[in-house]
Amino acid sequence: MNKNMLYRSIPKVDVLLENETIQKLIDHYSRDTVMEAIHIEMDKLREFIGQCEEEDRARAQIELLLAHIEMTVAAMHTPNMCMVINGTGTILHTNLGRAPIGQEHMRRLSAIATGYSNLEYNLKEGRRGERYSHFEKLLCKITGAEAAMAVNNNAAAVMLILSSLAKGGQVVVSRGELVEIGGKFRIPDVMEQSGATLVEVGTTNKTHFDDYENAITEETKALLKVHTSNYRIVGFTESVGIDELIPIAKEHEIPVIEDLGSGVLIDLSKYGITYEPTVQDSIAKGADVVCFSGDKLLGGPQAGIIIGRKKYIDMMKKNQLTRALRIDKFTAAALEMVLQEYLSEEKAIQNIPVLRMITCPLEDVKWEAEELCKILNEKELPAKIECVPCESQIGGGSLPLERIPSMAVAIHPQKISVAELEERMRHLPIPAIPRTVNDTVLLDVRTIERRFFKLLAEQFKELDVLEKISLIAGR
Ligand SMILES: *Cc1c(COP(=O)(O)O)cnc(C)c1O
Repeated sequence: MNKNMLYRSIPKVDVLLENETIQKLIDHYSRDTVMEAIHIEMDKLREFIGQCEEEDRARAQIELLLAHIEMTVAAMHTPNMCMVINGTGTILHTNLGRAPIGQEHMRRLSAIATGYSNLEYNLKEGRRGERYSHFEKLLCKITGAEAAMAVNNNAAAVMLILSSLAKGGQVVVSRGELVEIGGKFRIPDVMEQSGATLVEVGTTNKTHFDDYENAITEETKALLKVHTSNYRIVGFTESVGIDELIPIAKEHEIPVIEDLGSGVLIDLSKYGITYEPTVQDSIAKGADVVCFSGDKLLGGPQAGIIIGRKKYIDMMKKNQLTRALRIDKFTAAALEMVLQEYLSEEKAIQNIPVLRMITCPLEDVKWEAEELCKILNEKELPAKIECVPCESQIGGGSLPLERIPSMAVAIHPQKISVAELEERMRHLPIPAIPRTVNDTVLLDVRTIERRFFKLLAEQFKELDVLEKISLIAGR
């Protein structure tokens, strides 16, 4: 085969630029990105011809050049970040964005974010206000704390607290509470960044009151408790509670800090979930400063919420680090909306997606699963599709041992493998992330909102997802 002839039959750039399709692309997108796409696709085509041993296949690729340029330009202008359907059953999936924001909250958020707002403007007095003012009173009311603020996430909260209260001094913490919070980030390392020195006491499984008592020196600036939210030490264990630490801390005039991690505001044991210490408990027991995430069990935006005694919160508000860690208008507005729901437990469960999913009774999930199963089966896809029992998880490093009985739609493909199906589902226009267990593709319905059911079925049908050859098989 004559490769030179093949190379010569690739249209020249100036010829392509005259082409009607290319002209339309330039009008629709931009000349620069169309040029970039032309060069990318031409290079790919030359490389393909260089390696190809069959003339017919090479010619076919040349024929496809225009279509490939179109796809490449379109991809450049399509945001990579997109919504996905979470069929994993993990409610707080950190890789999938943790807590979803309620649709009604988002609608109100959009009104605030698309224009100007009173983020730092006191409307009553017509002068500068504080960005924490929108949710500080609410947080105090709900938790019983004297003052409150928030930063970008809980890791930042831990750093700010220690930098404000213990920089240059020592902080006593139990060896049983040196948590890695994921992505190789470790609480001890975060703490070191704050300029405080960690004094580790006790052992992995046991820490006694004496251990704390003996570790306190002139240099001690605080006692720290870290809630082991993402793991459990079980068996021969002992730890010292906040209530026991308060008297000795008072004696030495140092604060007790508690990093609660997930930060629940309602007692979930009423809904059949293992009891998790609430933020209110921690304050009631006398913790001086408490921090927790906004997007774990609270179900709000990513944030690190800090509450506690006013004199300590004031020190943090004045710390220069606060400026570097400050929350934006989206977070401030979303926090206020979500926290307002907590004024009524019933409303919180109803309107905060994370709480709704955690507390949704098995009966209701079953019903939803049957509905999704029916909608999928109506499409007469080449697969056995049925409802099966499964277990959901909370995730996000919260309640690691908890399993919530749930219901999934199991898809057994007849023409393709389970691995192929899983991959195709990831490549859908609205990707669906399933859980694969024992060679079955499961869609846990606890984490899939009903509004996605029809969409999912239509994507499966239109794109021949379960056929031997699929329209989205990729290139
Ligand atoms: C999750 C967690 C953090 C980190 O919170 P982010 O909001 O993800 O930064 C810190 N401490 C504990 C105990 C946690 O569980």
